[in-house]
Amino acid sequence: MSSADERALPVGTRVTANPLITCGHCDYCLQGRDNLCSNRTLVGVTRPGSFSEYLSHNARISLLQQGNR
Ligand SMILES: [Zn+2]
Repeated sequence: MSSADERALPVGTRVTANPLITCGHCDYCLQGRDNLCSNRTLVGVTRPGSFSEYLSHNARISLLQQGNR
């Protein structure tokens, strides 16, 4: 797998994603300690979607699946 970049991915792109959503710009994120992000949310805990078939998710924290079509 490789990291998705900041650009929007085409609809239908298959990815896997960390359910921990971070801001990317607080002090913790800038130190690489994004698990402590001051603005973090978690899919399935603080926002819905963990059991949905489709989910809108930030490309910055998504990983492309190999063999993606
Ligand atoms: Zn942060």
